Amino acid sequence: MIHMRTRAAFVLGLILCGTSTVAQEKPAVKLEVDLRDAAKRIYHARMEFPVTRGPLTLVYPKWIPGEHAPNGPIVDVTGLHFRADGKEIEWRRDLVDLYAFHCEITAGITKLEATLDYLLPTEEGTAGAPSASAKVAVLPWNLVVLYPDGAKSDDVKFAASVRVPEGWKFATALQPAVGAGRTDGLAEFETVSLTTLVDSPLLAGAFFKTYDLSPGQKPEHRLNIAADSAMATKISTDQVQHLRQLVAETGALFGARHYRHYDFLLAMTDHLQPNGLEHHESSDNRVPEKTFLDPDALDGFIDLLPHEFFHSWNGKYRRPAGLATANYQEPMKDDLLWVYEGLTQYYGVILASRSGFWTPAQLRETLATTAAYLNDWPGRTWRDLEDTAISSPLLYTARGGGASWRRAADYYDESTLIWLEADTIIRRESKGKSSLDDFCKRFHGTENGVIRIAPYTLNDVVAAMNAIAPYDWKKFFEERIHSHGPGAPLGGLENSGWKLVFNETMNDHQRAKEETDHIADVSFSLGFSVHGPGGDDASGVVDVIPGSPAAKAGLAAAMKLVAVNGRRWSPDGLREAISAAKKGKEPIELLVENEEYFQTVAIDYHGGEKYPHLEKTGGADVLSEIIKRQAAEVGTSK
Ligand SMILES: [Zn+2]
Repeated sequence: MIHMRTRAAFVLGLILCGTSTVAQEKPAVKLEVDLRDAAKRIYHARMEFPVTRGPLTLVYPKWIPGEHAPNGPIVDVTGLHFRADGKEIEWRRDLVDLYAFHCEITAGITKLEATLDYLLPTEEGTAGAPSASAKVAVLPWNLVVLYPDGAKSDDVKFAASVRVPEGWKFATALQPAVGAGRTDGLAEFETVSLTTLVDSPLLAGAFFKTYDLSPGQKPEHRLNIAADSAMATKISTDQVQHLRQLVAETGALFGARHYRHYDFLLAMTDHLQPNGLEHHESSDNRVPEKTFLDPDALDGFIDLLPHEFFHSWNGKYRRPAGLATANYQEPMKDDLLWVYEGLTQYYGVILASRSGFWTPAQLRETLATTAAYLNDWPGRTWRDLEDTAISSPLLYTARGGGASWRRAADYYDESTLIWLEADTIIRRESKGKSSLDDFCKRFHGTENGVIRIAPYTLNDVVAAMNAIAPYDWKKFFEERIHSHGPGAPLGGLENSGWKLVFNETMNDHQRAKEETDHIADVSFSLGFSVHGPGGDDASGVVDVIPGSPAAKAGLAAAMKLVAVNGRRWSPDGLREAISAAKKGKEPIELLVENEEYFQTVAIDYHGGEKYPHLEKTGGADVLSEIIKRQAAEVGTSK
């Protein structure tokens, strides 16, 4: 998955994939979902299970593909009833596994009806993520399904249907059922495995628009937007061209596709948490309503669609063996997320550049902020990169306070640096004949048209890398994922002709992020970031980097900043104070509020403002080579 970025890090989600063949021996589970109360934040579901006499346990999906975590939102499963022949059947929740419901099927019963209501949260929290606004609804099917305990998700077949609010449109990777029309607002879908169902979310909305991203070509690619306003569904010709170029670039990169068609599902609303979740034939993307109208917002989300699309190959088709689980109750092992998410993060950035979303300068500013915070944060002294991957179920929902010491989901951003370095080494060792693109073609570009999971181990990755350019890749990766520093792996930047520098000019990517996130970030000078005035938690200190001037002076996360040098604080005033202190010897005085107590924090810092950038080393500019368009330029005609 990707994003909700913590710093530059995405929280992405992902999901499972699967085959899409029709039911064989066992009849399919009938599933009817009613989204007509989506605006009231309730989804209704009704299932019919073929059953036989004896004890039966039905389970609710717990480990969600792409989210890499046991976070199926069971707390909001309500109104659960089991019935047969019109009579109630008692159920009892398992005493240990709270996702399991036991019941007893008596003689003569062949069909069990299960109904439930899923209550949608309206804000992020322990109950899971919001999936509907007043005008947009996203249906990840795992929110509303039960399935027999112990069954493989490939083996359970579902015949699903949905009703959306009157006048709403929808899109999903699922095909319509054979012969099905849409009557009475009911849409019936092909019978698929539970794997494919969960891998094929549905996006619905009152304001809906679809763009053809590969006109006249097979397989088809579409961008489907549901937004909180009609205006937000309209994107510019340039943006459509970039997306079409993205489709072409993935063709050039992989040479094979693992879907019947591909549908970007894009919810544009301020009421869902920004995020992305990958699927084989689609992706569930959620961004603020005006993202395409606001260059600053766009800067922060532009690699979201390339990232999720890349996952169709890396994550859905090729998947670490520990994540290729039999069903949604089996725990996932997240240790190879630095490949699953890390390689995807790297290519999300590269493809965003190759497709024209980002200029080379924008890419460099983004890479500079990524490299700078990773290099600066001290968390790696106790926690290596692999541990951030193993701990991903914890880190996805960790708060901002303490992030620099705890570490964030760094297997996204830090792996960008590692895979960049690997790319430059392949180019160097092969004397320019090969690149990491050749690894992608070899590793992900096989079995054109086949939709399945091909699991891998680290040894498989190493073997494929060696086939492209012989090198001690195992040592290369293990050194980096187990490193305790000092500093981040910056060899890839160096090899690609760039180095990390700091000066007093604001970084463009950081400026855009501060605008959209309402945060003032003086991490590289004083060593902290703070919520701006207005908005949630106004003036609350987000994080203070251990060992920084601010930390030494006594500032801590969750304190509230009141004044700087005696004047009510503002982002500009804070920066002016840092700049002024460079010329003097007086400390910068912060008045802060710690619950009911006020205190002064005197920061003895005179180094001036510091913002990260990339500067040429004098070596060959390999980075610019890497981000060059690889496919023929796609025109803008319809
Ligand atoms: Zn991802």
